[in-house]
Amino acid sequence: MENLKRKFFEKARLNFDEHVYETWIKPISIELNENSFQIITPNQLFKDWLEENYLEQIKNIVYSLMEREIQIFLTVSKNKNITTYSQESFHPELIQRYTFENFIKGKSNEFAYAAAKAVVDNLGGLYNPLLIYSNVGLGKTHLIMAIGHEVYRKYPHKKVVYYSSEKFMNELISSIRFEKMHEFREKFRNADLLLIDDIQFISGKTATQEEFFNTFNTLYESKKQIVITSDKFPKQLQNIEDRLKNRFEWGLTVDIQPPEYETRIAILKNKAWYHKIDLPDDIAEFIATNICTNIREMEGALIKLLAYSSLTKKPLDINLAKDILKDFIPQEETTISVEQIQKTVSEYFQIKITDLKSQKKLKTISIPRQIAIFLSRKYTQLSLNDIGNKFGGKDHSTIIHSINKIKKMLDNDNSIKKHIDNIEKMLTKNR
Ligand code: ADP
Ligand code: MG
Repeated sequence: MENLKRKFFEKARLNFDEHVYETWIKPISIELNENSFQIITPNQLFKDWLEENYLEQIKNIVYSLMEREIQIFLTVSKNKNITTYSQESFHPELIQRYTFENFIKGKSNEFAYAAAKAVVDNLGGLYNPLLIYSNVGLGKTHLIMAIGHEVYRKYPHKKVVYYSSEKFMNELISSIRFEKMHEFREKFRNADLLLIDDIQFISGKTATQEEFFNTFNTLYESKKQIVITSDKFPKQLQNIEDRLKNRFEWGLTVDIQPPEYETRIAILKNKAWYHKIDLPDDIAEFIATNICTNIREMEGALIKLLAYSSLTKKPLDINLAKDILKDFIPQEETTISVEQIQKTVSEYFQIKITDLKSQKKLKTISIPRQIAIFLSRKYTQLSLNDIGNKFGGKDHSTIIHSINKIKKMLDNDNSIKKHIDNIEKMLTKNR
């Protein structure tokens, strides 16, 4: 047994990135017996994060070591009523937190939400199949699992089967290898509700598509509900047979859009509430303003903050947040140097860089020079004197004069504005 645990950690170390291993795998302990593999985590937050992000990989590692099916549980340490999946009335394959109650509604997802709800009340009805599509991290898995939870709760006798299409494929392959196709088919074809997550993974996998096509038809004909998620609108899925794509559109297709600001805030607050953490408004606003297109990433930022603050025992505040979340936040515009400005301006006006630094009074040279000085002031933190030095040692009154002259021209002369716009475009492109 000890040997197995050691092997697990060895294998995990190879399978995960180092920082993931250090942060999320090393701190767990394992309780092993005849038919269960219990993963004990330090706290609820840790457990959720592990469950949502790394459980699949962990399961694969365990299965590869055990060569037999074994129940894998996540628990929180020192909790007397240890919560394992099976002891609660939760469907074992579904993530507990992914319920309708925990799904925040907003304009971006209300149609998908309503469709998911409608399916629960009308299994195998008009919306069969239901296909939900969106970019990554916007709630597809959450919503498809919410359907599973709700059906499992409302109709305990109905068989709910949740599979990622990838797992469907892997099991299909091993069933063929071990001559267990009969069992494989039984499992899917007895389902009352089949949830297939991330169908895009079967693109290019002909045998899997063939098998799924047959499964689909069998279920559909016996009016069993099918729900599918995809990262694209069905027609846009590449290397998936048309006959399958056609079927995906027989029922209802809905999309989830990136959430609006208010919804992002609500999701963050809900997440904090769920973990019984007080999230200051300014931090929620900071995260919601800077991470807009991926809810998982937004939650990752929050978790990172909470983990840091609880480990260092520093209270959460906005400055700490800005510092910790540097990597999540798109970098502030990297600085533009005077040299880049001189190069771009000289290219744009087809003059020499040395001309920009000269005293020449010719308009075709002095105007570009003044523009370059104006832009240097705008885009760099340099003092007037420093800018003067970079333009052939001009004193600071010359620099002020140039800047003011361009400012004035900007008010009265449209062509100058156009030139400057063009140069700014070149500057940001060349960065
Ligand atoms: P996808 O499957 O589209 O990649 P997920 O369903 O895994 O996205 O969602 C990513 C994370 O965002 C999950 O933690 C999920 O709970 C959360 N999430 C997504 N949409 C919502 C929502 N509307 N309300 C609350 N949490 C959400
Ligand atoms: Mg997903």
